[in-house]
Amino acid sequence: MTRCILTLALDTPLDTEFDYRWTAADPTAPLPAVGQFALAPFGRREVMGLIVAVKADSDVDDDKLRDIIAVRSQLAPVSPEWIALCRFASDYYQRPLGEVALPCVPKNLRTDNTTALERALKKLAAAGQPDAAAAAAVLRPDLNPEQLAAVEAIADRTGFHTHLLFGVTGSGKTEVYLHAAERVIERERSHGRAAQVLILVPEINLTPQLEANVRARFPQLFVATLHSQLAEGERLRHWVAAHQGRAAIVLGTRLAVLASMPDLKLIVVDEEHDPSYKQQEGLRYSARDLAVWRARQLGLPVVLGSATPSVESWQHAGSGRYRKLALRQRAAARAQLPRVGLIDMEVNKAPDGLSPPLVAAVRARLERGEQSLLFLNRRGYAPVMHCDACGWISNCRRCTAFMVLHKPERRLRCHHCSLEMRIPHSCPTCGNVDLQPLGRGTQRVEEHLQTLFPEARVLRIDADSTRKKGSAQAAFDAVHRGDVDILLGTQMVAKGHDFQRLTLVGAINPDTALFSQDYRAGERLFAQLMQVAGRAGRAGGEAAAPPSEVLIQTRYPQHPLYRALLAHDYEGFAQATLAERRAAGLPPFVYQALLRAEARELAAALDFLQQARELLPHEGITINDPVPMTITRVAGIERAQLLLECASRARLQAFLPPWMQALRALKSRLRWSLEVDPVDI
Ligand code: ADP
Ligand code: ZN
Ligand code: ZN
Repeated sequence: MTRCILTLALDTPLDTEFDYRWTAADPTAPLPAVGQFALAPFGRREVMGLIVAVKADSDVDDDKLRDIIAVRSQLAPVSPEWIALCRFASDYYQRPLGEVALPCVPKNLRTDNTTALERALKKLAAAGQPDAAAAAAVLRPDLNPEQLAAVEAIADRTGFHTHLLFGVTGSGKTEVYLHAAERVIERERSHGRAAQVLILVPEINLTPQLEANVRARFPQLFVATLHSQLAEGERLRHWVAAHQGRAAIVLGTRLAVLASMPDLKLIVVDEEHDPSYKQQEGLRYSARDLAVWRARQLGLPVVLGSATPSVESWQHAGSGRYRKLALRQRAAARAQLPRVGLIDMEVNKAPDGLSPPLVAAVRARLERGEQSLLFLNRRGYAPVMHCDACGWISNCRRCTAFMVLHKPERRLRCHHCSLEMRIPHSCPTCGNVDLQPLGRGTQRVEEHLQTLFPEARVLRIDADSTRKKGSAQAAFDAVHRGDVDILLGTQMVAKGHDFQRLTLVGAINPDTALFSQDYRAGERLFAQLMQVAGRAGRAGGEAAAPPSEVLIQTRYPQHPLYRALLAHDYEGFAQATLAERRAAGLPPFVYQALLRAEARELAAALDFLQQARELLPHEGITINDPVPMTITRVAGIERAQLLLECASRARLQAFLPPWMQALRALKSRLRWSLEVDPVDI
């Protein structure tokens, strides 16, 4: 009988790895290997773990050792580099290794369900090679000189390089990714080596065109997709295809940065500035940052693409750490950047949210048979209900937030804790029956548009209108088909769509973000407005047609953010933002970590944080006062935070492990968590 000890990393809250005993009934069976997955008992559960060591003996007493249930020997082990990537993320973000390595592995692999795995393997083995002849049929535009220079810079050199592909909206960044991928794959093949390319996108269901483009361009290759909306069987099959090296291209959302890809040769991060690359719970990692780390580890190129790069990346490009590749023109013939104009809302009163110049501009589009897009980053009918008689407002009783009026469903809904109730017939405090909605969301503007333009086909796209699976896709298809005259939506409509008949973009109420407490709000607003503006004027139209237009309603037309937008001047905006950050001592000029605590009583959370603050000497690290979070109470739980700042990343990283250990040793009963490089402070 063969036996050995396996050390498993498990996805459990404890920061430990566990030893188990493995015994083979069949003496000829091969020993399990580091990098394989194994099912093991944990308490009363069975959990999947990653084998991180195979050894003869354990420090654990023999009678305390438990037996492995099964090793997933059908699968080749993940590479040592993959484990090293997970270890890095585990150390950097201060979370257990198993919490990094296991959640990115499909669920079906993590349970005792071998049939799912076997079915996936069989299906993959049976799948023939995709059709090579079809490749020739696909239309591929000739690259313009800037695109070609970018492709050559990315693909014709080996070794680790971070490229910042800074290309205005519609400049053809996708072509650059696809050509670079093709070149890298062909180069490796000509040397008899396999190659895989990882393409990360912010949200796959908002960028279906990219997936379609990739598949059309590479019909001869296996393109795997990895994102949270795949059905489990498909997810497993695609994960395994990446892991086996079968999938030459893996297209996925942030979790795909941890895909096992043995032949990885190129990484692309599209829209690198997008906030959805940041995981906001559990392991709060930045997929963009991990992509760069992974490229350096493996010595390969990584491309960060954006029309509005994050100012962190811009700073690195300025200092020479990243290499900047610029695409300054729109790629399609005759396509031009839209003209941006501001509508001064101090002069143009708009009781229903739409100013006369914006209404006139929409009307002109309707008359010409063109499409308009109106952007309002607030869903629901009205953000709050109000009683004029006594001043009552629709506060959520469980959160420091308003209940939002959703008129079609006739409900008030809290967007933080999901509490819902019927719209009250009368004021709960004074009985007044005339309750008023205050402010406006997409539903209210939709209603107004329908009265203004009864003949127009108005379509609203937001999280409420696209709850059903596939409905977002159907809505976007309708816009592309030309079945929509006026598209109205939240930031969901800002992403990479190439709407050919769209010639007007209106931003209804962007000012709210100007005065946010969050120091990143301005950067986010600028990126959003550039993105949404970038939906206009992509086709070019008739030579004599008036240029596409972007109209922004604002009460602060002199604000530097809008001035930069008028001039399509991302660079000026980024320089000014970086100067402000430097002066204020904010990232990327300092490194931060944030400790959060939650309790029924705010005082308890603040006390815990105060205790945490005084636990260890922390020379060179500023630990600020504990403060309540902006939205202090959510679902009845009070939340507070403690911000750490340090000019040196290394020093902060050295402080965190002993501090975390000391925090755990407090054995506090309240919930707390640490976030490294926090984004929402
Ligand atoms: P971005 O991602 O930079 O906003 P896209 O990649 O969506 O831009 O490209 C915008 C449009 O330009 C697409 O319709 C694309 O097919 C077209 N395009 C890209 N490169 C070229 C080129 N070299 N010649 C002509 N059209 C191009
Ligand atoms: Zn009242
Ligand atoms: Zn609530």
